[in-house]
Amino acid sequence: MQIDLTTDGHVHTKYCHHAHGEMADYAEAAMAVGLTRLTFLEHLEVGINYDEATWLSEAEFAQYRAEGEALREQYQGRIEIGLGVEVGYNPKRALEIREFLQRHPWDRVGISFHYYEIDGRHYNVVSRRKANLEPLASHGVERVITDYFATLLAAVETLPGTVLCHLDAVLRHHPEVRFTAGHQHQITEILQAMARKGMALEVNTSGFPHRGEQYPTRAILEEAVALGIRLEAGSDSHRPSEVGRHFHRLPDFLGGDHSVPPQS
Ligand SMILES: [Zn+2]
Ligand SMILES: [Zn+2]
Repeated sequence: MQIDLTTDGHVHTKYCHHAHGEMADYAEAAMAVGLTRLTFLEHLEVGINYDEATWLSEAEFAQYRAEGEALREQYQGRIEIGLGVEVGYNPKRALEIREFLQRHPWDRVGISFHYYEIDGRHYNVVSRRKANLEPLASHGVERVITDYFATLLAAVETLPGTVLCHLDAVLRHHPEVRFTAGHQHQITEILQAMARKGMALEVNTSGFPHRGEQYPTRAILEEAVALGIRLEAGSDSHRPSEVGRHFHRLPDFLGGDHSVPPQS
């Protein structure tokens, strides 16, 4: 499988309130591990009823863009800087999300689904906290997973995404996660929709500390590659020391021709 391991396409900063470090710290960390391109993928969520904001406000997005543009100039010739958004889809607010994304050009638009709604409140499906896991589990693990994939499919079809993030990370901290044949079929439908739109699939290395391999599994990556979908590496860093984490392990996990030249 081919993947460019000189680009980290998914890092967060202090702007999202749950990551740490300045944008420049991430650029320095990326150069220190030999990357030639780094793309910030800051969190956008719209209409989420949750007890903290794990995403950027409009004003913070403006600051992020301004700082990112300056950084791009400052690091020119040393490392390429990309500015992107990780969109957590909320089907009830699709119009606003689309409007936000159309306001400025972005180098990368990652599609995710983080917040599941039960009775007007949202619960984070990738969280390890009991306050999220317990209500989601009593709602039904299988049902939450089914709705997760259905919502991702809608997001792929509705939004101008360029890459799909951590596809199979749903309920990653819940011990009873099991993908049924129905879920596998949903994944196939998502991949087919991505192939039609020319979207890439993220190989997210934050899976290594959680489960000893990337998100998504090799079987899903193989299915994607067979459909002609491009793979793109992302560390999902929430602190500078995580930039490019576990990229060196990917060749063993993905096999094949992994050393492609950096994007021009
Ligand atoms: Zn985050
Ligand atoms: Zn995410």
